[in-house]
Amino acid sequence: MAQQHDDCFRGGDDLMPFNEGLQILKDRARIVVGLETVPLRDALGRVLAEDIVASDDVPRHDNSAVDGYAVCFSDLHPGTDTRLAVTARIAAGHPLDRPAEPGEAMQIFTGAPMPDGMDTVFMQEDVTRDGDCVILPRGLKQGANCRKKGEDVVAGNVVVGAGKMLRAEDVGLAASLGLGTLTVHTRLRCAIFSTGDEVKDPAFEQAGAGAIYDVNRYSIAALLKGMGCEVTDLGILPDRVAEIRSALHDAYPGHDLILTSGGVSMGEEDHITHVVKSLGSLDFWRLAIKPGRPMAFGKIVDTAFVGLPGNPVAAMITFMRIVRPLIMALSGRTAADPHIYQVPSDFEMDKKPGRREWLRASLKVDVAGVMRVHKHPAQGSGVLTSMVNSDGLVELREDVTRINVGDLVDFLPFVELSS
Ligand code: AMP
Ligand code: MG
Repeated sequence: MAQQHDDCFRGGDDLMPFNEGLQILKDRARIVVGLETVPLRDALGRVLAEDIVASDDVPRHDNSAVDGYAVCFSDLHPGTDTRLAVTARIAAGHPLDRPAEPGEAMQIFTGAPMPDGMDTVFMQEDVTRDGDCVILPRGLKQGANCRKKGEDVVAGNVVVGAGKMLRAEDVGLAASLGLGTLTVHTRLRCAIFSTGDEVKDPAFEQAGAGAIYDVNRYSIAALLKGMGCEVTDLGILPDRVAEIRSALHDAYPGHDLILTSGGVSMGEEDHITHVVKSLGSLDFWRLAIKPGRPMAFGKIVDTAFVGLPGNPVAAMITFMRIVRPLIMALSGRTAADPHIYQVPSDFEMDKKPGRREWLRASLKVDVAGVMRVHKHPAQGSGVLTSMVNSDGLVELREDVTRINVGDLVDFLPFVELSS
């Protein structure tokens, strides 16, 4: 009995499995963002709205991969060194204005276009220069040190698909195709509140007796920004219905998503649920997860609403695993599940079946050079240092009941969950 009272996540038959909740959100979510054109230099982290189709081959011409001497392979003696006259010098950006003749060698520099008729380049350090001639060793393969036209990108191919959040390499590839601007989705407009009479803003207030500093508005705003959202910080709501109602009523126009934290459990001070229900619609979810069971999803007119749990760790983890896929769908991002890595554990534990649990954990290489996952010693859903001092989450599925040392466990690095 005592144990039951200690466990604020004790289950019931009406708990919804994690996957079912996620599927409901994915099914319901529709893209709500618009389109805009941005200069390429501002495209990092934006969501590509139209496929990038290559208008040209990259490289645009065969070119030398090294500094050296270009030749036609068929001019080389198979069994001995070959001596050829050096007839031209081709620097990068200065293509030769004539095709090559048989029997010529040309000094060429990295990135310089290959002359028509030549297909092979000797590295400068492998040859002997002798006046106007060059002596080329035997044994080089046809095509050596020559980068072929189109070996990176073939004209007409889709090189970056719509829905991708652009990374540095995508921006570079767009540049290689001569694109100066890209069509991206507008940023998802998110409004964020914290709730609770005990919660004080560290920027403006001193926390007195019984008070705590607001963590969630800062950590969740940071996660939203990492996902490329535009964030409006709407402060802290007291535990009073009238104020919550007027704040939410004022917030929904001009925002695509309203996020609150705290105030969504069954406690009598938890008014968010009632207010959102009266302004729009709301489902109160009791997910079979730990940490972070109390969550709410709804709508105020056309604006999506998410009520996160109040405990800081629970707020972050439910954001990463449940809200992030919703935000991806609203933002026009192609929904790719985060990569899960299977890593041997260096701990043992028992787990209750029927719920999904996330442990804060780090990757450590043991003396034998084997990577193992190490569970943070403090797993309370308010212990934020367990996040700070970890590399990611161990995800224990519903059917797991026991982890032994050396068992492979599912590990999700924070980097997979925070952009
Ligand atoms: P609640 O869901 O409102 O009952 O909150 C659950 C727990 O999380 C309580 O201990 C709250 O004090 C704490 N909490 C709620 N909101 C925040 C916040 N924004 N920052 C830090 N802790 C919070
Ligand atoms: Mg509260």
